[in-house]
Amino acid sequence: MAGARIRPLSEFVANQIAAGEVVERPASIVKELIENSLDARASSIDVAVEQAGVRRIKVLDDGLGIHPDDLPLAVSRHATSKINMASDLTGVDTLGFRGEALASAASVSRLTITSRHAEADSAWQLAVDAGATREHRPAAHPQGTTVDVEDLFHNTPARRKFLKTERTELLHVQDVVKRIALAKPEVAFALAAGSRSIDRLAPGPIVDRIGALLGESFVEASVHVDETGGAMRLWGWVGLPTHSDRRAVRQHFYVNGRAVRDRIAGHAVRQAYRDVLFHGRHPAFVLFLDLPPSAVDVNVHPTKDEVRFRASRDVHDFVFGKLARVLRTLLPGEREGAQQAEAGDDGAVSAPDAIGPHRQRPIHYPERRPTGPSFAQLFDAATRGESVQSEHASHALATAISGTASPEIADASDGEPTPGMPPLGFAIAQLHGIYVLAQNADGLVVVDMHAAHERIVYEKMKAELLGGALRRQRLLVPVAVDVTVTEADLIEARASDIEALGLVIERTGPASVAVRELPVLLGNANVLRLVRDLIADFVDFGSSDLVAEAQERLLASAACHSSIRANRELAVEEMNALLRTLETTPNGGQCNHGRPTFVVQPLKALDQLFLRGQ
Ligand code: ADP
Ligand code: MG
Repeated sequence: MAGARIRPLSEFVANQIAAGEVVERPASIVKELIENSLDARASSIDVAVEQAGVRRIKVLDDGLGIHPDDLPLAVSRHATSKINMASDLTGVDTLGFRGEALASAASVSRLTITSRHAEADSAWQLAVDAGATREHRPAAHPQGTTVDVEDLFHNTPARRKFLKTERTELLHVQDVVKRIALAKPEVAFALAAGSRSIDRLAPGPIVDRIGALLGESFVEASVHVDETGGAMRLWGWVGLPTHSDRRAVRQHFYVNGRAVRDRIAGHAVRQAYRDVLFHGRHPAFVLFLDLPPSAVDVNVHPTKDEVRFRASRDVHDFVFGKLARVLRTLLPGEREGAQQAEAGDDGAVSAPDAIGPHRQRPIHYPERRPTGPSFAQLFDAATRGESVQSEHASHALATAISGTASPEIADASDGEPTPGMPPLGFAIAQLHGIYVLAQNADGLVVVDMHAAHERIVYEKMKAELLGGALRRQRLLVPVAVDVTVTEADLIEARASDIEALGLVIERTGPASVAVRELPVLLGNANVLRLVRDLIADFVDFGSSDLVAEAQERLLASAACHSSIRANRELAVEEMNALLRTLETTPNGGQCNHGRPTFVVQPLKALDQLFLRGQ
């Protein structure tokens, strides 16, 4: 525990600690030093670097300090105040526990550590050069600790050569500070490079910290999540699909407050976004997974940024299940949609309890206006005639694509038994061949024709796929794949699950299988790679998304190319058909690229433009 005295670990315990070098670059030292300050319960941490940390890294904190007698132990290998026995490794609740960081840093630099312990009346300083102690003497320092690391790699020139440019190394330092500071909003952080102040973060609510580090726009375009299940809690902010990134740059995942890169969680998050985010886009999120320390092994990698869950399948399903549910209840621009759906207040359509693309409710509209008929009522009313109507509508759309008008189109909108106004209202005009304008109970609805149609076609094709209408093709020559005996066992045992994905794989020997049938949609995919990845998924996650993912990518591009192009004139009936179909289309609020398919301008907003009723 932080605050305890430092003791050398027995050889037995030391040998059980994930071995390896932690000092790869200046940022690695910055990370270890900040973690030490946090373990010492500092409320303020100042980081200063010169030449991106190569010339100097100085970290000052106001934590518990180190007892003067313990200073030499602090910089010696396998000495720590945080764990003692091997069994402590199964319930680590501090960021550090290896007792190696200061020793490693001291061996490749000139390191000075100055500290005043909470119970000591003066501070002491210890200076170490390339691992050898130079001085141990009284010094001046307020309560807390300063670690000063100078001339990194001065005694190991070969390693110095591997450093990148100063700019890059500084970016790594900034990234480390950011990742840690995001999770510790109650601690003040400052980062300075030379004479330049880079970050100055005051303690405060976590939303402020996130806003300061990831931008207010992230907070604006994200939804707060807080879900529990068993002993697990998942909370934080997930970005709306409409605010995704081209690269995975704003993804922060924490396990018990520790920033980690975790495959299991990463896969779960990707899978949850899959339905609402087009392939190739990356969601932005800051997510915290809290679970009992004994449920996670942090002693996996020397840099401690990987963990191993004792029940990884449970963690995967929990993260995926909760996120998928939240994401499905989102409408573009509806920040509070998820919570309202959860709470079920003011007539909001409640979130679907079952997850599965074919079982979800198409579009979610939380009611926000205090007066008038509830939107949920209108919505239900509008969807009651769904089966008859959407058939007509898709027929109308099919006609719309092929370009010939049909008398049935008129029936789709005019002859309908809807007692109220449908959610997306009725079309009034087309704007510049790009947008459909409609009037609904709220005000004006503007629909991006192409985006809307693209989503409709995509979901329709997907539903066919999932509805079992999936066509398989028999390979002329089966593709043989070498696997391990365990993998072959697994394939045999899961044959029917694999077949449900459209693949027929048979065992042909103790350690070999052959692929006999593939989904038609996959065409001439790289079978070998697909099967290998598929097996890996089954081993790791118990299920696989790969086939579905590959198919959906094809579907998406097919949908995009078969959709209505801009500048195509639509008759009012065709526009209404588009609106009706969109209402009953899963994920209808966005196109496959994550852009919104429509926006609603309430009368109130229009009134404001004209300064009415003020
Ligand atoms: P670990 O953090 O794994 O224990 P380190 O080499 O990072 O190993 O640190 C060794 C010990 O030095 C810690 O266990 C802790 O007792 C002490 N220590 C290091 N930095 C600080 C600090 N900033 N404040 C108080 N104690 C510290
Ligand atoms: Mg440490």
